[in-house]
Amino acid sequence: MSRPPRGARFPLGLDHVHGTAAPRRPAERAEPRDLLRPQRPLAHAARDAARQAPPAGLGLDSAAVRARMVERLRAEGIGCEPVLQAFGRVERHRFVDSALATQAYEDTSLPIGHGQTISKPSVVARMLALLFESERARAAGALGRVLEIGTGCGYQAALLSLLARGVLSIERVQPLHDKARLHLHGWRQGDVRLVYGDGRLGHAPWAPYDHIVAAAGGDALPPAWLEQLAIGGRLVAPMQDARAGGQVLLVIDRTADGWREQRVGAVHFVPLKSGRE
Ligand code: SAH
Repeated sequence: MSRPPRGARFPLGLDHVHGTAAPRRPAERAEPRDLLRPQRPLAHAARDAARQAPPAGLGLDSAAVRARMVERLRAEGIGCEPVLQAFGRVERHRFVDSALATQAYEDTSLPIGHGQTISKPSVVARMLALLFESERARAAGALGRVLEIGTGCGYQAALLSLLARGVLSIERVQPLHDKARLHLHGWRQGDVRLVYGDGRLGHAPWAPYDHIVAAAGGDALPPAWLEQLAIGGRLVAPMQDARAGGQVLLVIDRTADGWREQRVGAVHFVPLKSGRE
């Protein structure tokens, strides 16, 4: 598969990222000065080198840390196997600042800059599992074509790429769009396209979408999302609900007759804003 040159742009400001694991940092190496000191037993030098290595170079690369997170998600009631498998494969610590890497596998949201956050794994898992219950996903066993609003650092887009035939993710904050592009540079799983723009408008050129998922919540559902959702498809998005006194998670199914809505509990996402910055 040919790769676009670094920084290559696609029409309509669309960056087509062929699917890798997020860029690998060079392996951490033991400091040679310790290994060369003859008066210290080699075992001590190796132990000290291990202590010096930043946490990102050690346990976080191991599949076991993700397997533990997956077990916690399962214990919390996430039973959707494809979603759990995707969580086991994507290295969340590579999508956050290295100073926060040690917290990457805790069930917590983390700052990603520009006042935004990467959502909590359990909330992301719940939303993806809800998508898998749509009529289209039940028929196909996969998510088909997905529109994601709010790329952020690109973590959820990476998860989606393992579950969908194609992912188009929109971000309105340019530096975050660029960061996600960097995180997903060379990503070789599936088809992920990143767009810099106002996600409230959806992305008509690639519509209809089998599934739409938003990581930011507004006061009302943008009409473009409803129009760009395929029949049999499902949309999952946070939305402000005056009666509930906060945000709720909205699930919309599009049928041949129209749109059917459910509200499935309180959530807390960053606001859906208009325009680009
Ligand atoms: N899925 C992301 C979560 C990012 S938080 C992840 O895995 O990291 C939500 C994101 O939505 C923020 O980056 C915010 O800038 C973005 N956002 C808010 N309003 C938006 C809009 N109208 N269009 C596109 N992105 C929007």
